[in-house]
Amino acid sequence: MNGQLKTDLSQLGNLLEVIRLQCAEVLQSLGNRSTSAPALIKESPHLDDIGIGANETLRLFNQRFEKMMVASAGPRYLGFVTGGSTPAAIMGDWLTAVYDQNTQALNGNGDVSARIEVETIQLLLDLFRLPHSFFGGFVTGATMSNFTCLSVARQWVGRQKNRDIAREGLSGTLPVLSATPHSSAIKSMAMLGLGSNNLVKIQTLEGNREAMDMDDLEKKLAALNGEPCTVICSGGTVNTVDFDDMKALSGLKKKYNFWWHIDAAFGAFAACSPIHQHLVEGWEEADSITIDCHKWLNVPYDSAIFLVKEEYRNLQVESFQNSNAPYLEDPLANFSYMNFLPENSRRLRALPAWFTLNAYGKKGYCDIVENSIELAKQLGEKIEASQVFHLLAPVRLNTVCFTLAEVVEQVDLHQFLDKLTKEGKVFMTPTVFKGYAGIRAAFVNWRTTADDIELVWQEMNRAYAAFKKQTVK
Ligand SMILES: *Cc1c(COP(=O)(O)O)cnc(C)c1O
Repeated sequence: MNGQLKTDLSQLGNLLEVIRLQCAEVLQSLGNRSTSAPALIKESPHLDDIGIGANETLRLFNQRFEKMMVASAGPRYLGFVTGGSTPAAIMGDWLTAVYDQNTQALNGNGDVSARIEVETIQLLLDLFRLPHSFFGGFVTGATMSNFTCLSVARQWVGRQKNRDIAREGLSGTLPVLSATPHSSAIKSMAMLGLGSNNLVKIQTLEGNREAMDMDDLEKKLAALNGEPCTVICSGGTVNTVDFDDMKALSGLKKKYNFWWHIDAAFGAFAACSPIHQHLVEGWEEADSITIDCHKWLNVPYDSAIFLVKEEYRNLQVESFQNSNAPYLEDPLANFSYMNFLPENSRRLRALPAWFTLNAYGKKGYCDIVENSIELAKQLGEKIEASQVFHLLAPVRLNTVCFTLAEVVEQVDLHQFLDKLTKEGKVFMTPTVFKGYAGIRAAFVNWRTTADDIELVWQEMNRAYAAFKKQTVK
């Protein structure tokens, strides 16, 4: 055995204890750690001949990078849609690394890990009040989930035209209809050879809405004259968390020939709350659904699930099959996840989700979700009552989309945002909403409290004063 490895193996217990202490320290001080840091990396790396061992490597990490690790898992990191990690999720994540399973088949090697994954999907279906007629699995993020679902959609549309696109490749265009698709759905179209230019834009409702105008959708579906297509529906847009009308879509599905995909990366969690579950009413009629776990489920990156209706298992296998095993006749007999999704070898990505779901249950997630929404509303109310900030849309769920009352130029907003985020107490990200430059604050972290909202509000006003002072000069 190599000398360095031998030394590390002999002191494994100590190494893990050192890491445990550091992790506990970081997690307990997350609320006080900076949400931004200048990335000042000057040295260029070189690979040492014999290596420095695990202990020295930790020292090197701490010396070079530790101070620059931002508190993105902390309570006031409101940029993008950034979840944290629950204590149980971190326990599951550590065990995933330690057991290091290759999660593929239900029979033979990796037997238990694939079973844990199947079981975790059942738990998630319970959480989202979805029927067990969906087959699901874990991928790295909602982007890969959209990719997976849309590849089955592509196969389905091909099948309607008596074509096997996975084998034959694409020729001609297969229409994809959507109103406010997430950028990752368009990226998935590019990766799938569907062509991102082939997106047919459906009008949004008037005013500050991002949801589909169902009349326009129906008009465009009718114009296709029975030609099969894919409809990507938003189960929560990222700017204002607007939901397409799922009930109307399930009605249209009875009349027209389309694959119904829902990108519910974080909006799916509305289903956890009795107050908000109406937003997804009817979604069980969809053919496929994308849900992120590293956002509102609060498990570490990288974790998302796809859900595809069981009846389309064969189409999914056609898209992703890696071997010529006879599972087409009996997909469960030789089940392996590698035939249903992009990756072959894969970690036991389900375990952090399994841990956190069992640890906190339906009530835990209802509380997390309602807390996030309540805090978003609190910030929204402060903005609404203020002279200097302006809401670009009402706070519909857990995201606050706003701008400065008197400026609309992107450069101004960026200056304000710089001042806001530089102090390291709060982090938000810029956006463009219906042509207006805006800022988003998204709440999906279990740690955030009303005290954080007070601090965020103070910081926003401090940053505004600094911004004014600079522009007046
Ligand atoms: C975040 C998000 C995605 C992309 O998810 P990743 O996990 O970053 O791959 C897709 N759709 C929606 C609605 C999102 O919020």
